[in-house]
Parts: sequence; structure tokens; C-alpha cells
Amino acid sequence: MDAFTTDLLAWYDTHRRSLPWRDTVTPYRTWISEVMLQQTRVDTVLPYFARFMSRFPTVERLADAEQDEVMSMWSGLGYYSRARNMHAAAKAVVALGAFPTTLKGVRALPGVGEYMAGAIGSIALGLDVAAVDGNLHRVLARIHRSTTDRKGAWSLAAAHLPAGRAGDYNQALMDLGSGTCKPRRAECPRCPVSAHCAAFAAGDVHKYPVKAKKKVTPRREAVCGVLRREGRVLIVRRPAAGLYGGMYELPGILLNTGEAPDVGLRRAFSERLGLTIAPGGPLGRVQHTLTHMKLTLHILDIPTPASATPTLSHYTDARWITPTEPGDIGISTLAAKALAVAAKPEPQRMLF
Ligand code: SF4
Repeated sequence: MDAFTTDLLAWYDTHRRSLPWRDTVTPYRTWISEVMLQQTRVDTVLPYFARFMSRFPTVERLADAEQDEVMSMWSGLGYYSRARNMHAAAKAVVALGAFPTTLKGVRALPGVGEYMAGAIGSIALGLDVAAVDGNLHRVLARIHRSTTDRKGAWSLAAAHLPAGRAGDYNQALMDLGSGTCKPRRAECPRCPVSAHCAAFAAGDVHKYPVKAKKKVTPRREAVCGVLRREGRVLIVRRPAAGLYGGMYELPGILLNTGEAPDVGLRRAFSERLGLTIAPGGPLGRVQHTLTHMKLTLHILDIPTPASATPTLSHYTDARWITPTEPGDIGISTLAAKALAVAAKPEPQRMLF
């Protein structure tokens, strides 16, 4: 073990963060925590992890669950394809008879990429493998004053990997990156590995890692409609594949360039539900940022009481719900914001 790793692990042994998925380690718990932690902060994940483990304490229980039950436990965490893949992976594990014990086996599960396989393999299976996320990339790029991208940081991580303690090594670097070697304010004077850090010695810590050019996030507009019947509103379930797959929302559609919200809403109801409607005034609008677009969602009232029954050519389910009590179904944060608008019938509210 080199001097850098020795100092890193000595620090980790006394300063490691106590987290529920670390305090009791099983492949199942490590896997679920890693799925939840993708793109999501630890503090946000903690209550979700506790609720999820109490509802689905074993991979068998998760595999047996209806997709709606899984999605409802995920509501608000975002990136819903993670939950769908995780559910499919749970079924795959049960079909295998046990959690895979090799890196190749873990990597073959739906939704498991190179990083996650490394994290599960090193933390829960005792394999000597690296797991490079943004934190490890940042720390190692600064330690070596390396301009490498994240892919290239795997070889830096592997070069320091201690045999038999890869899980602690990866988690130590994750903790160091999130708590000390932070993107904008690295706290070098209290860093346990500052003696080994080339960027600290050179005084140019914040030049590393070299940033990839930022892509411009396109702006799009969408519309959804509030169709009421006896105090309830119509919600629909999206097709299983694609954005928000399997989640419920108010019926609507992405607007074409220059298309007015009321025109788009008529198109949505006609094409997707076989209903002819006359949209009323705006009830409000919601701004939402996704990984690939910034979205403005217009919410329009549909004043005519619903009589015709929707046909399901696009959506996979339609049901009437009380907006404040949607029940045990998966609803994205965006759809929940729109439902909050639908729950208050006065026009022209805005949520940001
Ligand atoms: S000395 Fe500073 S830049 Fe280097 S690893 Fe520690 S916190 Fe990061």
C-alpha cells in the first residue's frame, strides 16, 4: 500500500461517515443505496432509503412488488428509469437464485454501469476494483495535477488501490471528495492527504479536474389539462419506456415550436385519449429542469364536465383521483407540482 493510500485509510478509519447502507452491508442494500445516490444527494436519499428498506427489506420482496408500488416509493426522487431498471434487476437476481458475486455478473444487471458495479463489487462483495464517480475523479485529478477526464481517472484510481480494502478506499475517496476536496472550496489545510497532493503544492487546486465544455440545455414548453368529474381529475399513466415511463400525470404533450398551449392540449386529448375538448383559461404554469431540457409546463382548465370515456391508445391507464390524495401510485415531482395547481381552481397561479 502506498503512502497516499495509507494516510487516506487511516483518516477513513476514524472519520468515516456513518450511513445506514454502510452500517449494515449486504449486496442488496449497497446496490439500492447506489441506485438512489445516482444524481442525488446523500441527505435527500436517507429518508427514501429508510422507507424503501422497510417496505422492501429483501430483493425477493422487491421483485414480487407491483411496479406501481415501487414507483410510489420512488416518487420525488427523479430519474425514474432508475427505479424501473432496479425493479427489473431485482427480478433478474431472484431468477438467478442469488446476487451475482463477480463484477461481470453485477454489471449484467439492468441499470448497473461501470461505476455502480465497481461500488457494489468493492463494498459488498470484497472485490479489488475501483469505482470512479465525480468525487474520485476530482480528488485524483488534483492529487496528480492530471487533466484526464473521468474515464482516464480509472487508471489513477487503480494505481493506488489497496488489496483487500478496495471498498474502504473507494468510500474514503467519496467522503473526501464530498466533504473536503469540494468542487469550489477545497479545504486543503484539513485534508488528510495534502502531503501527497501535487495541485495543493502548486497552488492551483481549482484548475482540476479540467472541465468538459458545458452543453447548452434546450428550453421546451409542454401543456397539460385539468379535466374534472365529480370533484376528481383525470390522470393518466405514461407508456413504460421513455421519460417518466410508467408514472402518472395530468394528460398533456410537448408543444411543437410556436404551438399555442390550447392548440397543443386539443391535439393531446384527441391523439392520446380520443376526446374532443375545448380548453379554458390557464390555471398556472410550472418550471422544471431535467437533465436534457428546461421545461415550462402550462396547466389549462378544461371547463366542460367529462362525459366521454377516454380511450387508451397512448397511455397505459387512466383514472380519476382527488388531486390532494393521488393514492399509492408513482407521480414525478413535475406531475405533483401540476396536480398542486389543479387542486386550487383559481386561475393564473405560478409555481417555481
Ligand atoms: S490537498 Fe486539497 S486539493 Fe489536494 S486532495 Fe486534499 S483537499 Fe483536495
